Amino acid sequence: MKVVNRRRFLTTSLGTAGFAFGGLAQGEKPAVPGKGAPSPDRPLLARQPGEDDASFERKLLAVDFLPPAQRKLALLFHHAYPGKLEGFQILDGVTRVGFRTLHGEISDLIFEDGKAKTFEQREETPDLADTLHDSYPDRLSQDSWPENFDPGRYRLDGFLKCIYGASESEVAAQLVTVDFCGHKVRFNKNNQAADALKAAGTELEALKGKIPAIRPYLAELGGTFTWRPIAGTQRLSAHSYAIAIDLNPELGGYWRWEKNGNPSDMVRRRKYPEEIVRVFEKHGFVWGGKWYHFDLMHFEYRPEFFA
Ligand SMILES: [Zn+2]
Repeated sequence: MKVVNRRRFLTTSLGTAGFAFGGLAQGEKPAVPGKGAPSPDRPLLARQPGEDDASFERKLLAVDFLPPAQRKLALLFHHAYPGKLEGFQILDGVTRVGFRTLHGEISDLIFEDGKAKTFEQREETPDLADTLHDSYPDRLSQDSWPENFDPGRYRLDGFLKCIYGASESEVAAQLVTVDFCGHKVRFNKNNQAADALKAAGTELEALKGKIPAIRPYLAELGGTFTWRPIAGTQRLSAHSYAIAIDLNPELGGYWRWEKNGNPSDMVRRRKYPEEIVRVFEKHGFVWGGKWYHFDLMHFEYRPEFFA
């Protein structure tokens, strides 16, 4: 029975019909919260066809198969990516998650593999929960930046491909032009990314009048959309998905090119105009200045950190 269930789930999860939660075998009952541990191979929670976010969230809050920490992270993604989360199941002790892709299919991604990882492993092979391993700090209050503390720098490509496009041509077809502080830039229209950039740009444009010191940072841009790996790695940059913008590169600073500098140093981070950082954060962007592997000109739309 377990094998049958698993096959049905995996087939369905890659198709268009939704998770197999509603498609249990005849006479088989779905797992009921509080009625003992469900079979580890059973499809556990799935959005029904046409079910809205509020109803799905009530179900998510009612099931007890996800440990509290995982459920908390699940809610962050559910709030930050409306209409996208389709379900969860546990297979062989691994929590898997389904998200609706641009094509209306449902992805099958690893949400929590249960493995303790080193920094390098988290960077190279994260599960979706790992991407929120470091929580995004509000202020730059510490005296030195913690080693390898990189909130927002872990990314799961399978997830981003689902939301924003799976190839260069697919992402290119999702772009809209945004007026940003006197520049026309292309940004991904999905999940309100372009809207968020436009709103940030409008606020920054108004701020330029009040705070002349921020003008040089916005006078030139490094760019938004380029399908490319991160320097020195095989992993795709957030620019591949057109969800990141680089402000003036002359006023940036990138850890890889400054190997003699101390990545924990706070001075360069504090020197970057806080007003710019605040506006981006307000609209769901993380700043590369809050990474140990810093990238000061880089702002990336990652609403799950602010959900
Ligand atoms: Zn960048």
